[in-house]
Amino acid sequence: RFADLISLYWRAKPNPERFKPAREIFSLDEIIEGLQNDQFEPFYQPKIDLKTGRVKGAEALARWRHPRDGIVMPYAFLGLLEENSEISELTWTMLARSARDCQEWRNAGLDLDVAVNLSVKQLADPGISDAITWQVTNQGLEPRHMTLEITESAAMTNVGRVLENLTRLRIKGFGLSIDDYGTGYSSMQQLTRIPFTELKIDQSFVMHAAHQESSRMILESSLDMARKLGVVSVAEGVETRDDLNLVRECGCDLAQGFFIARPMPSTDLPDWVRDYS
Ligand code: C2E
Ligand code: MG
Ligand code: MG
Ligand code: MG
Repeated sequence: RFADLISLYWRAKPNPERFKPAREIFSLDEIIEGLQNDQFEPFYQPKIDLKTGRVKGAEALARWRHPRDGIVMPYAFLGLLEENSEISELTWTMLARSARDCQEWRNAGLDLDVAVNLSVKQLADPGISDAITWQVTNQGLEPRHMTLEITESAAMTNVGRVLENLTRLRIKGFGLSIDDYGTGYSSMQQLTRIPFTELKIDQSFVMHAAHQESSRMILESSLDMARKLGVVSVAEGVETRDDLNLVRECGCDLAQGFFIARPMPSTDLPDWVRDYS
């Protein structure tokens, strides 16, 4: 079938994601220099709608296009940036680039949304909701086309300001996603205080749901809770056809994972979306 050929093409096409960089240890100074020299960019991983089969949007994942060492993954720079309170430079880059890319896809006739990961470190800053909004709308994108992802453990901090800022962002129209759900020990009561719109079930449960009873239970009860709260559910870490079928049967709304597509450079996304649908 033609669709199978297309999918073979995308699997065979060299994706910079697949190659390990020559080096994986970097100093904070090198990272900051890379940021200042504009070497960081979002790669995009599609999110598909399991009911309609259409591409709903894409999550922006930070990549460092190192001039000598190739594509460097987040684990090699995120921790250092966060520990040293230097994460905001990356956040501004990611917000602006992904807002601009998303608006370009939309102008080209593709009805896509974009999602960006936020670090909790910044969410306690006063004025952060205005700064984020400005960064996004300045690129011409309406906040309703962007979802901000916060990890479950981050969302559970007891800092009142975090809750206040998340609420302000929601009021401005951003979607709010609880990322890595199931790993953060939140109570339902804590969870319902946050005006979130999407629950993203951690990949560890999705990957093991097909062969591990406990993971499947967590997946199913998370989906049940999302339904009852009236929020969109996303399964991340869909690695096989079986995973995809299972999350669809369980009634999950959206799916993301290597089986569907690996994160890819922004220039590849429009073609991928056209081929997929
Ligand atoms: P996340 O937001 O939970 O993103 C999902 C991660 O799982 C990504 O790793 C993605 O490439 C990977 N993934 C997607 N599908 C599959 C799959 O089927 N199997 C497996 N094994 N993995 C899959 P990545 O890009 O290395 O990012 C890791 C984490 O770094 C992200 O987890 C997110 O928490 C953080 N991150 C990435 N970009 C940013 C950023 O711009 N800002 C902040 N604050 N955090 C970021
Ligand atoms: Mg995420
Ligand atoms: Mg996640
Ligand atoms: Mg994760």
